[in-house]
Amino acid sequence: MNEFIPPAKPIIGDEEREAVDRVMRSGMIAQGPEVKAFEEEFSAHFGLDRACVAVNSGTSGLHLGLLSSGIKAGDEVIVPSFTFAATANSVALTGATPVFADIDPESFCLDPESVRASITERTAGIMPVHLYGHPANMPALREIADEHGIQLFEDAAQAHGASLDGTPVGGFGSFAMFSLYPTKNMTSGEGGMVSVATPEIERLLRLYRNQGMEVQYANEVVGFNNRMTDIHAAIGRVQLTKVGGWTKQRQENAAFLSANLQGVTAPPVADGAVHVYHQYTVRVAEDRDGLAKALREEFNIGSGMFYPIPNHRLAPFQADVDLPNTEQAALECLSLPVHPSLSQGDLERIVAAVTKLASAGA
Ligand SMILES: *Cc1c(COP(=O)(O)O)cnc(C)c1O
Repeated sequence: MNEFIPPAKPIIGDEEREAVDRVMRSGMIAQGPEVKAFEEEFSAHFGLDRACVAVNSGTSGLHLGLLSSGIKAGDEVIVPSFTFAATANSVALTGATPVFADIDPESFCLDPESVRASITERTAGIMPVHLYGHPANMPALREIADEHGIQLFEDAAQAHGASLDGTPVGGFGSFAMFSLYPTKNMTSGEGGMVSVATPEIERLLRLYRNQGMEVQYANEVVGFNNRMTDIHAAIGRVQLTKVGGWTKQRQENAAFLSANLQGVTAPPVADGAVHVYHQYTVRVAEDRDGLAKALREEFNIGSGMFYPIPNHRLAPFQADVDLPNTEQAALECLSLPVHPSLSQGDLERIVAAVTKLASAGA
């Protein structure tokens, strides 16, 4: 059988290994100068024009970003249900309630009209996810947020380098979180980067990250240990020099798939949007699970379902809401390999296999 094509593949090179070794040899491995440099370089690289704060995971970034923006018990934050559970978990961890809205079937991101219908007097914020690397409709969400005097946040975990009408994601909300988990578009091993809109949110984030201290042993608030280590930051700094090329390759791979796949619905891109294809997600109208199984068993090609169970139906949330676009996407979505390590031969194998299976199933 042909070699297995994995659904995702982190790329770690000699430069990353050397960077880790350099930090290890320095004898200073906890949060220090590498983290500070990584924060500055990340902001500059993605043209964010804002301060960035590094933390030990994307989930910590969401949690601390929400706390630093003043989200607290009794508040509601509107989130998509069609996302990774970390989005709603981070809201729940502040004591606030995640309120699930539906998605736009084209972009798979929050539908502004569903958000509008979900607002109550307790709504304190809206947190869209730039799902799969496609920017959410931020202008429409900004309008709703301003109308109601509530905040806008960004779960940009999957969207390093995505933009809308020339504004990079991470530049819209009170804060935005980028995940640095190994399967994301770039990694630090584990980690998260948070861009912040104001010096006050930045100050609080830095306090919460480090036990509530800015000055050693002069604790100002109750805080966490959510620091990034210099070892992880050193990996992230190297990856930052490579992520632009990888993104370009993802976009070229996606263009090839969209031009050649038959029998499935390719992911559309909104006007003015730059999609960075963390995932390349098609819709399979009939028997998505069977197609995924046959791809693996007959063609040795991996794929993913992000996400098969909408968050509002997960055990910790169990919200009684009707989200038809979310339910349909959960049934039909299939993410095909799009990562930068694919060869032209791999892409051709994916096209041939999916087209064959989809036409056989139809
Ligand atoms: C990966 C991810 C997170 C969480 O990031 P971690 O770094 O794994 O904690 C949050 N939201 C979304 C949409 C994600 O894909």
